[in-house]
Amino acid sequence: MLAITHLFFSLLIGLLTYNFFKLNPIIFILIVLIIGIFPDIDHPKSKIGRKLKILSYPINFIFGHRGLFHSLFAAAGFSFLIWIFFGNYYIPFFIGFLSHLIGDGLTKQGIDFTYPFNMFKIKGFIKTGSFFEKIILFVLILTNAYLLYIL
Ligand SMILES: [Zn+2]
Repeated sequence: MLAITHLFFSLLIGLLTYNFFKLNPIIFILIVLIIGIFPDIDHPKSKIGRKLKILSYPINFIFGHRGLFHSLFAAAGFSFLIWIFFGNYYIPFFIGFLSHLIGDGLTKQGIDFTYPFNMFKIKGFIKTGSFFEKIILFVLILTNAYLLYIL
């Protein structure tokens, strides 16, 4: 899934969930957005990977793309660290991470949420970068615009 689609998908999830928590909504949404593309740091050619090459190359070398950095274990582990340092802001962190995993889970390549145990692998029908993904992106943009409008 393209970074831009991840962003708008995360925005949608953020807008639908922020109200359930007593956290600053702006910070909440920002964290969801940033973490919504963060897991692709395991891919040096991804948008975030290209910006943070110094991290993405070693991470890609050790973990591979869509490996441990695309698992619930990474989501839970990082969220735990965020909880220690920033308290309840682990919630938007976890939600952003999860939105990324779900987004990639909708692609043909799919992901294993329980990597490396292969106990919960999901895959969908979206080919990354395809015309179909662009239609989904368009629908996401419209839906987000509507949600922001009625806010
Ligand atoms: Zn990804």
